[in-house]
Amino acid sequence: MLSQVVELIENKDRFAITSHIRPDGDSLGSSLGLFWLLRALDKDVEVIMRDSAPHSYQKLPGADAIRVTPVVDRTYDGVFVIECSDIDRPGLIDLEKQFVVNIDHHSTTELFGTVNWIDSTASAVGEMIYNLCKATGVRVTKEIAECVYTALLTDTGSFHYSNTTERTFKIASELVRTGVKPAKSAEAIFGSYHWSKIELLSQVLATVRRDETGHVAWMRQTMEMQERTCASDEDADGFVNYPLAVGEVEATALFKECSPGVYRTSLRSKGDVNVAKIAELFGGGGHRNAAGCTLRGDWDEIEQKVVPLLRDAVERANGLKDVTEDALK
Ligand code: 5GP
Ligand code: MN
Repeated sequence: MLSQVVELIENKDRFAITSHIRPDGDSLGSSLGLFWLLRALDKDVEVIMRDSAPHSYQKLPGADAIRVTPVVDRTYDGVFVIECSDIDRPGLIDLEKQFVVNIDHHSTTELFGTVNWIDSTASAVGEMIYNLCKATGVRVTKEIAECVYTALLTDTGSFHYSNTTERTFKIASELVRTGVKPAKSAEAIFGSYHWSKIELLSQVLATVRRDETGHVAWMRQTMEMQERTCASDEDADGFVNYPLAVGEVEATALFKECSPGVYRTSLRSKGDVNVAKIAELFGGGGHRNAAGCTLRGDWDEIEQKVVPLLRDAVERANGLKDVTEDALK
């Protein structure tokens, strides 16, 4: 709960903040936003992560201070774990030995912390960090504003996804008033790619297929494509969304081979189509319209397993739509 988080911050001094492996805009923006919040209160705080910040986020205020480490090698009064579904997501050894505070906006998160503050109405954890500023009386500085804005911008898919609410815009508006330049933030994230990303995209897009209904589309990225284009892991971020630009496509998957026979899978959907449920079947998770999991096995098998599940999810959502439409008649 928020009150427990506030109490801990008020009564203790030495903190660490961490988030999931391969951090993204919300995990970095929220972690660094909280870092600046705690600094404003003169707390001893550091951000520790298993992986370093991707290129697009390296200019975020405080990103250069992130300590990359595979193990929690110091003792803290509290470790804030941002945006993680379970205690293993940060990939940090000995994390469970600490006083863990779980801060997340996924309703599917496990309550693995001693304190758990979960708000599934928040578009991003960034929104929660903003609320924490208000609750602790910390002024939203330019640093906090830039970090929180990045969290909102990325986790709402540039304010496209259904998690975007009036509150998101209200907070974004105050952040802009504080000095955030939306065009500058957007360019840092979406206009600073390496050429290798475009080369990889051309190869991944060439694999796109759709099912006979036209509602489901999927793509595959092989290790060989990544090697050939000298692309980094983060270069593929965002590819999964491309097929959704087509009107009738309602669910998409990107199967990214990360070692032989192991596919990091990203799922995306529109409207009521729930892909989080599919990810959960394979030990992953996420939101209704954006989820992920790791799949192991033969490519053909994986394709034959996941594509029908995506089609079922689309059919179920369309059935649901019929029911609500009927109910309204
Ligand atoms: P992405 O496809 O960008 O890797 O992940 C989309 C969303 O799905 C993430 O924001 C996160 O919420 C969720 N997600 C991705 N991979 C996993 C996973 O392995 N486990 C869980 N619980 N959630 C995941
Ligand atoms: Mn998030």
